[in-house]
Amino acid sequence: MTKETIIKPDQETKAETKPGNYFVSNYPPFSFWNDDDVPCVESMLNSPSSGTAPMGIYYHIPFCRKRCHFCYFRVYTDKNSHDVRRYIDATMRELEAYAQSSYLEGRKPKFVYFGGGTPSYLSAQQLTELTDRMKAIMPWDEVEEVTFECEPGTLSEKKLEVIKNFGVTRLSLGIENFNDHILEINGRAHRSQEVFRAYEHARNLGFQNINVDLIAGMLEETDANWKECIDKVVELSPDCITIYQMEVPFNTTIFKSMKEQGKLTAPVADWPTKRKWVTQAYERLEKAGYTITSAYTAVKEPQETKFVYRDRLWTGADMVALGVASFGHLGGIHYQNITHFDQYCEAQESTSSAVRRALLTSEDERFLREFILQWKLGRVNLGYFSDKFGVDVKNRFEDILMKWKECGDLTEVDGDLLLSRDALLRIDSMLHGFFLPQHQNAKYV
Ligand code: SF4
Repeated sequence: MTKETIIKPDQETKAETKPGNYFVSNYPPFSFWNDDDVPCVESMLNSPSSGTAPMGIYYHIPFCRKRCHFCYFRVYTDKNSHDVRRYIDATMRELEAYAQSSYLEGRKPKFVYFGGGTPSYLSAQQLTELTDRMKAIMPWDEVEEVTFECEPGTLSEKKLEVIKNFGVTRLSLGIENFNDHILEINGRAHRSQEVFRAYEHARNLGFQNINVDLIAGMLEETDANWKECIDKVVELSPDCITIYQMEVPFNTTIFKSMKEQGKLTAPVADWPTKRKWVTQAYERLEKAGYTITSAYTAVKEPQETKFVYRDRLWTGADMVALGVASFGHLGGIHYQNITHFDQYCEAQESTSSAVRRALLTSEDERFLREFILQWKLGRVNLGYFSDKFGVDVKNRFEDILMKWKECGDLTEVDGDLLLSRDALLRIDSMLHGFFLPQHQNAKYV
């Protein structure tokens, strides 16, 4: 690694929120995934797997009641039950094709993740049919975790019961904020009363793990309101709390209106303020008995409350992507499906490939991917990377790690590299220093 690639001070995390993606959600960046590598997915599926990597399923449900102003996902707010039926059929064709491939034949998922979009947008009946069909194609008897993302306003007691019965173990509620005005001006479809009602039903039904999502720095967030949000979440007492720092990617409504007004800075809190809010939240949650387990999560019982999807993914698991615009990873190949609803369904109906772009990664890129993602846990185990990839991390990144140690961001304890709390909350801006030279300054789109 040359001096030029070592940690450049990230202006965006030191001041205003500029438009663009801040989170490093995968590696290499999406802009390097391409058409040429698409046939590699097919070749991988046609070869038997070595059978060592655990496998999971990511199912994307692209429907929402309303589009949030900060949302950058591929979502549809105008689809009817006919469209939902077509979509379920298309995704089941896709799963059948995977199940019959040489690479996946006989393998069973260890985790299933329903993300979106809004998975809870589907009716109880649609969800029952969908999951029955999924299990008939690939049985869930080895599944360790089923995560299901929900928008609180779409949840009735009856629907939650169905969700529990088909096997969800980790229910994730997209609360984001408890203030109705803030929810409204950020374009959220739900209101706080719906949150309390849904949470109570879910608790009574005995879900194993309830996570709630919050966002620090939504439009019009204030110190006083944020403090109230934290008080309310402590009162709710979920098993896991995930806190994101608000980013404003280019394909959001907020960015569109910034462009119309000729503004270069997003109308949300700056990065130091957002980090201050997350710091305050973590300090308060620790006092309430929570443990901070990553840059974004606090959990009540770290020994019992796991997040299998994240941990498997960050240690190189295979993941089958189902649905429009869905992201997957098989045998070291990254891929993403077609991002338009009709084109995706048509591809499944005509049994042509729905993969839109892919990247056949090198061994070094696979090492870097896991290394980069695991920093988000605030702890990197040196033995893991030397055993799995034969990489001496301290030697390879001597300059960066030395610099982090010198400024108090890093310590080493018993073979683990540990980030300070302050560095953990800046980690997404620090990771670019590990990128290969050709991936520096790339966009995450
Ligand atoms: S609910 Fe989630 S996926 Fe749907 S529009 Fe809002 S942020 Fe996007």
